[in-house]
Amino acid sequence: MSPQPLLIALVSVQFFVHALVWAMTARMTRRPRGVEGHFALFWFLLAAGLALFVPPWDSGSAPRNLADLLIVAASMMEHRGLALHWGRRLPLRNDALALGAAAAVVAASFLLDNGHGVRVAVVCVGCAGFMLASVHLMWRLGRAATPIFAPVAAAGYSLLATALLVRGVQALLIGSTTKISIDAPGHANIPFAIAVLFIGGLMNLVHIRLVVGRVLHRLGQQAKTDELTGALNRRGLLLQLENEHADALQGKAGYALMMVDVDHFKAVNDQYGHAQGDRVLQAVSASLRAALRGDDLVGRWGGEEFCVLLPRTRLHDAAQLAERVASRVAASGPGIRVTVSIGVSEYGPADRDLQAVIRRADGALYEAKEAGRNRVVTAAAG
Ligand code: GH3
Ligand code: MG
Ligand code: MG
Repeated sequence: MSPQPLLIALVSVQFFVHALVWAMTARMTRRPRGVEGHFALFWFLLAAGLALFVPPWDSGSAPRNLADLLIVAASMMEHRGLALHWGRRLPLRNDALALGAAAAVVAASFLLDNGHGVRVAVVCVGCAGFMLASVHLMWRLGRAATPIFAPVAAAGYSLLATALLVRGVQALLIGSTTKISIDAPGHANIPFAIAVLFIGGLMNLVHIRLVVGRVLHRLGQQAKTDELTGALNRRGLLLQLENEHADALQGKAGYALMMVDVDHFKAVNDQYGHAQGDRVLQAVSASLRAALRGDDLVGRWGGEEFCVLLPRTRLHDAAQLAERVASRVAASGPGIRVTVSIGVSEYGPADRDLQAVIRRADGALYEAKEAGRNRVVTAAAG
C-alpha cells in the first residue's frame, strides 16, 4: 500500500496542531483577533490544499495545481500572522505580489515539458520564501520578547525552509513529465515528509511550552499582585518577607518594615465617594514607590494599609525613609490630599519568627495614630 495517505494525514495533523497552538498564543498578543484570524485562515487554506491531494487526481490536473497554490497562500497567511504576533502589521502588497507570481508560474508551467517539476518547485520555493521571511522577523522582533523561544523557532523554520528548497531544486532537476507520487522512486518525498513531521512536531512542542510558560507566568503574577494599585498583594509580600526573614536567620543582612496607614480614610470615602477613595489609594501607592529605593517592596496589606519591606536596612535609615514617604504622600496633589501614619520596625536576632517583627511595626503604627496621626513612630528590636 502507498504510504501517501498516511503521510498526508500525519502532516495534516501536525499542521492543525500547529494552527491550534498559534490560536492559543494569539490570546496573549496585543491584537488577538487579528492573529487568530490569520491562523484560522492558514488552517483553512492548508486544510483545503491538503484535501485536494487525497482524491486520485492526476498530478498535473487543475485541482492539484490549485492545491499547490492554496498551500503557498497558507504559508503567506502564517507569515503574516507571525508578524502580527510579534506586533507588526505587514503591507499586503509584497505578499500579494509573491502569491501572484507563484500563480503566474504555475499557469505558465502548462506550456513547459517539465511542467510538473516546475510546479513542485513553485510550492517548495514559495513556502520556503515565506518561512525565511518569518525567520527574519523572529530574529528581528521576537528575540527581545522571548530570547530563547525566538532563536529556537527561527532555527526550526530555517531547517524546514532548507528541506523545502532542497525538495524544490530536486523537482526541477529530475524534471520530465513523470508523475511525482509521494513514494515515486528517485524522489526525496518520504524523507521530506518525515522531516516535516519531525521538525514540525518539535516546533509544536516549543510553541506549547511557550504558551504554558506564559500562562503560568501571568497567573503567578496575578496571584501576587493587587489589582487596584498594582503593588504586591498581601500574599505576594508575605512570600518576600518570609524569604528575607529566613535569610536574616541564617546570618545574612537584616531588614526593616514599614506599616503605612492612610489617616481618616473613611472620611475621604464618605466625603468624595468610593471611586475617588480608590484613586487616592492608587496615588498613595504610587507615592510610596516613588519615595522608596529600587530594592524596597511595597505591598497592599489590606484596605488602606500598606506594608513596605526594606531589605538590608537598619531602623535609623528606615525611619528616615518613612519620613520621606510621609512627606511625599502629604505633598502629592493636585487631587485630594491625605496624610499617612507609619510604624517602623527592624529584624532583631531575638526574632525567631516574622510575625514578631510585623507585630512591632503594627504596635508602632498604633502609637502613631494615638499620638495624633501624620507621623512616624519606630519600634526598636527587643
Ligand atoms: P484612621 O486614621 O484611624 O486609620 O482612620 P480611617 O478612617 O483611615 O480607618 P478605618 O479603618 O476606620 O477606615 C478605613 C476605611 O477604608 C474603611 C473602608 O471602607 C475603606 N476602604 C478599605 N478598602 C478600600 C478600598 O479598596 N477602596 C476604598 N475606596 N475604600 C476602602
Ligand atoms: Mg486609616
Ligand atoms: Mg486601617
